[in-house]
Amino acid sequence: MTTTISTSPTSCADVAASAELRERYARIDQGIVDACRAADRTREEVTLIVVTKFHPAELVRDLVELGVRDVGENRHQDAAPKAAALHDLPLTWHFVGQLQSNKARAVAEYARVIHSVDRESLVAALARTERPLEVFLEVNLTDDPGRGGVEPSQLLPLAERVLEHPTLDLRGVMAVAPIDEDARSAFARLRELSDRVRALAPTATAISAGMSNDYAEAIAEGATHLRIGTAITGKRPERP
Ligand SMILES: *Cc1c(COP(=O)(O)O)cnc(C)c1O
Repeated sequence: MTTTISTSPTSCADVAASAELRERYARIDQGIVDACRAADRTREEVTLIVVTKFHPAELVRDLVELGVRDVGENRHQDAAPKAAALHDLPLTWHFVGQLQSNKARAVAEYARVIHSVDRESLVAALARTERPLEVFLEVNLTDDPGRGGVEPSQLLPLAERVLEHPTLDLRGVMAVAPIDEDARSAFARLRELSDRVRALAPTATAISAGMSNDYAEAIAEGATHLRIGTAITGKRPERP
């Protein structure tokens, strides 16, 4: 019998949880490497953002130990206390959810990158914060105008609005694949839209696309920023 690593049941559970996290992270990390190779791209072209919504700050701490530096959140009221609790860590916070203009200032306090810019009023609100922010324009790839994201026909005018503001750095486009369409073909359309934005703004080369179930298809269509949640973090924890 060798030494036991833990005496309290709580820390046993914690050790098991972080071992599972490490395993899931390693699996996705390898999946990204494989998808890049299949697409004849290098792994360095792709940034992995781990979406940590629904999960506590401690899980983000565990992710940092695994080498994660980019995390994503979709609700300000959840993200703000986490970012505050983890201010000692070398993290870049990405805001990926729908953003109300009246929350722009508060979100800009901790988030450096906003992936969900989809209307002129939000561009104006982000510019008014006078914070240097990286901006992705979220495109609606569905037929439902009620979904988040700018209509493709309005994408270039929106890009022009962003370019008017020196504090806003237009990085590129973002989208979520529609549930009723093959992800690869949806991301192919996003890539075409990206090409049009690049014609207007040559440095706006980034494409934020790909989640737990479709990141390989996104990589195949040129994604540079993956937003992966549950495949790494596990399911949403039960409320105590
Ligand atoms: C939750 C979320 C993700 C991550 O989704 P998973 O399916 O858990 O990987 C990515 N992007 C946005 C905008 C999200 O809200």
